[in-house]
Amino acid sequence: MRLKRLLGTALVLATCGGAGAAWAAGPADYPSRPVTVVIPYGAGGPTDTVGRIVAEAVSQELGGRLVVENVAGAGGTVGAGRVANADPDGYTLLFNHIGMATAPGFYPTIPFAPVGDFKPIGQVADVPMTLIGRGDLPAKDLAGLIAHVKAQGSTVTIAHAGPGTASYLCALLLQNQTGIAPTQVSYNRGFAPAMIDLMAGRIDLICDQTSTTTKAIGSGTVRAFGVTTRERLPFLPDVPTMDEGGLKGFELAIWHGFYAPKGTPQPVLDRLTAALGKALQSPMLRERYGQIGAVPVSQAAATPDGLAAKLSAEIARWTPVITAAQGK
Ligand code: ASP
Repeated sequence: MRLKRLLGTALVLATCGGAGAAWAAGPADYPSRPVTVVIPYGAGGPTDTVGRIVAEAVSQELGGRLVVENVAGAGGTVGAGRVANADPDGYTLLFNHIGMATAPGFYPTIPFAPVGDFKPIGQVADVPMTLIGRGDLPAKDLAGLIAHVKAQGSTVTIAHAGPGTASYLCALLLQNQTGIAPTQVSYNRGFAPAMIDLMAGRIDLICDQTSTTTKAIGSGTVRAFGVTTRERLPFLPDVPTMDEGGLKGFELAIWHGFYAPKGTPQPVLDRLTAALGKALQSPMLRERYGQIGAVPVSQAAATPDGLAAKLSAEIARWTPVITAAQGK
């Protein structure tokens, strides 16, 4: 009789599944297998570059492995949707940038609710953007560039990572504020090849994160026309802000966060937030972020509340701007 009861209990535990059962004993052994971090953009691109560094640092804190999976497409909404629908067991997480907040402005329907379908773990980093051009463009500064594109029209090209991405938003804002209309070249499946094409002179312009543009700017192989932050950047002191270059009020700051699907057990979320907080102090992370112009956020921002507040504020800020910019 006792044996029968024990077998019955084992059967219930084995079949009921779900996050609650998995964590009945607490997260002491979490993670006991690799954790997938979905980055909703291509490998080798700017967001991937930032995300892989923090994934490595968080891995070190958790004593387990965070494995990055790139799920690119539709402005990051495909990858984010994948995570929203994953098992909420702590083994599938999302690393995403400002696209989490701009998606509702760009897409009438998306396969997730940015606020309702996720549990925020914490903000990770701020990464400025730069407007760069191929090294042999005749323009020397932003005003010269705008004049050049106005004169050359659609023969000038600007690359972006597809509708809904941050580079697309930057190109859209630029077009709206200046009236220039370069031909847009969309790298939907990953933005790493865009930098190669720019350096080879096959495309003319890119506005994107410093995580992939800093090195090229430093080596002088590309021309930097402006940074999109309010202030100049300490590591690119000679590059004026877009505002200084004549585009008054132009500001687009990219921020990144970690999310888990809603329903992820609280002890696991707490463990992840604690690991993220420590990872952001890691000398390895700070050194590598320094090389790509990524700024680790404060400890207060690297929390669920810090990320939730940022996400809500950015949705409220960008949805009307994007709607208006797209003429909807
Ligand atoms: N930074 C790109 C964008 O949002 C995406 C990427 O990182 O590949 O424009």
